[in-house]
Formats: sequence, structure tokens, C-alpha cells
Amino acid sequence: MNEERKGVWRILAVDEDGCIGCRACSSLWPEISTSLSLSERGPERTVMFPRIVEESETKIAGGLEEVCPVGAISIISPGEIPGEDSFSLVFDMVRCPRCRAPFATGRELDYVKGKLPEDIRAKSSHPSWIDLCPTCRRSAFREGASREVIVRRSGARR
Ligand code: SF4
Repeated sequence: MNEERKGVWRILAVDEDGCIGCRACSSLWPEISTSLSLSERGPERTVMFPRIVEESETKIAGGLEEVCPVGAISIISPGEIPGEDSFSLVFDMVRCPRCRAPFATGRELDYVKGKLPEDIRAKSSHPSWIDLCPTCRRSAFREGASREVIVRRSGARR
């Protein structure tokens, strides 16, 4: 083994077709390292993964497999030490239909929609609340709640 690579404990593998670019792994990893990071530029999200897991990173690396909602990360034994230290996956983001801000990857949104219970899916119309960014979703909820109060009060006065 190469002297520089002595501390390598495992290799981090990501199923590129399965990864939805959801940020769960990049939120966990900064606890010990900046090598798994996320950046957003306009309508594009990039997740940068470390290829090599050092011995000191073993605990958190094990957690990555658990935190990934689609099981796209595996920590595998090093057979051949890879030449690259890191690799990136780039995702197109969808824009909120209200404020036009990009807020989630298309794959991430499809995943969440697929997890919604059937009765909620049936009730939603396009653009539904799920297509809104978190800020607009909160405003839509507040507006809906206010409308309900007004309707209820005007009904009570009649
Ligand atoms: S947690 Fe899994 S799906 Fe989400 S960005 Fe990381 S590897 Fe991709």
C-alpha cells in the first residue's frame, strides 16, 4: 500500500443513479470533516463526496449509510485504492412556482411525492403545496388558515 494511503480504512461508494441529492449526508459529515460538502449555484446543486474514508472518520462514515434515505451510500473495504480523493454529483433543481427560487432537486421532490399517503396525493392540485418552497409553503398555509377563519366568522354573523 502507498505510504500516503496508510490511514485509509474504507472507500465511499455512491450509487449515482440512486442518489437524489437530498443533503442528508452532507448535513451529517461536517461534524468531522469538510470533505463531504454541498453547494448550490442558481438552479444547480453539487454534492462533493470524499472517495477515501480515513480511520479517524469511521464512526461518522458508518452513519452515512444509515442517514441516506435511498440507500445510495456504501462504505466498502478498499480493494484497490482509488486515484481520486473526491468526486461530485451535480443535480438540476426545481423552482418554486410562486417565488421562482430553486429549492430542491427534481429527484428529491419525486421521492417525497412518492412517499405521500394516497389520500393526500389525491387531494392536491397543481401547483400543489408540495411543489412550493418551504417559505412559500408556510405562507400558503397561513393564508389558507386566515381564509378559513374569515369564512367561519362571516358565516357566524349571518
Ligand atoms: S444522503 Fe444519499 S441520496 Fe442524499 S445526497 Fe447523500 S448519497 Fe445522495
